[in-house]
Amino acid sequence: MLIAAHMSGLIDASEATRGLDYRCPACQQPVVLRHGSQIPPYFAHHPQAPCHLAGEGETRQHLLGKRQLATFFSDWGPVTLERILPAIQQRADGWLDLPQPVALEFQCSPISREAVAQRTAGYQRIACYPFWLLGSRYAQQKLNWRLIERFACWLTGWDLCLLFWEVDQNRLRVAHHLRQTATGAYINETAWVTTLSELVAGPTPCTTVVRNPGQKQYRSYLNQVLRRATPTLRPIQEALYLTGHQVTGFPDCLMTTTLTAPIFGQGLILWRIVLTTWIEEQADMTFLTLAELSQRALLLVNGRTTAVRFDGRSAFRQEQRKLLTLLTQAGILRPTTQGWHVCGHLEWARDYTDWLENDEKSGC
Ligand SMILES: [Zn+2]
Repeated sequence: MLIAAHMSGLIDASEATRGLDYRCPACQQPVVLRHGSQIPPYFAHHPQAPCHLAGEGETRQHLLGKRQLATFFSDWGPVTLERILPAIQQRADGWLDLPQPVALEFQCSPISREAVAQRTAGYQRIACYPFWLLGSRYAQQKLNWRLIERFACWLTGWDLCLLFWEVDQNRLRVAHHLRQTATGAYINETAWVTTLSELVAGPTPCTTVVRNPGQKQYRSYLNQVLRRATPTLRPIQEALYLTGHQVTGFPDCLMTTTLTAPIFGQGLILWRIVLTTWIEEQADMTFLTLAELSQRALLLVNGRTTAVRFDGRSAFRQEQRKLLTLLTQAGILRPTTQGWHVCGHLEWARDYTDWLENDEKSGC
């Protein structure tokens, strides 16, 4: 905590001297001034009397970062450190009193999805926009769904992004244009920003080269995963087995190199494969059945359309429409008033070896 109540006002730890009467501005309990050679001054509750507005334990990174962020955002106006918001029982690391207020949350310690959702919803209740800025613990992680589902947000120009505050460099790293390849890899572009105007201006255009595996490469990869009996693919293989198929023998036309919103778990292609086998088992399919099957297929490949700060449902529906168009063009589906009539099925290879043989024959 950088700010404490003293006399009838507030005092910053950097201006406080030891031994005086300081209190927590939220709970009014006594707090003590601490500092060391490595850590800047801060106020701490007595361990026996923790605060009801619990924040994260103070580390050098968190203390320095809060002050750096206050400076970074000060182009928009004065930043209040550790603003207490009684209406929602939260303490924001930083606060800008703008027509639409802005809260800064510098997150260095682990936090559950529920806690992020709860804090974010609190800010939304008071019409405040929260920036979640992530510390080094998060910056070290490989891009993954757990990070994306808790912290990813839309920012103009940057598309879906994650914000990392680098205390040692005093700068912001923006992992932007978060997307997913059809084989399930999470990808993004990276920019470093040292001023707020650079953040507002958005990224300078750059062209990322996305390396999509070819069809043969992807099937071979699936084949290896199956042979190693890696658990990730097992539920999918089991579901396909019940329809008489092997995942590696999927129809050629389901292959794609589309980049999507990062909602497809193990990847768009696997979702297409599962959903197609289930569609092929129907005689007539209503809109409702399709919606249920699509959702079940998504869960099976570990995909999710909702996150704390973005909604992937329209991106999901778009991919659903594309698959239906593909299956209709392939003559598998015929639209009816209630949905579709299922007229046939696609060509499946028995397994990877069978597919390879067919591929070589057709290649001659
Ligand atoms: Zn307190």
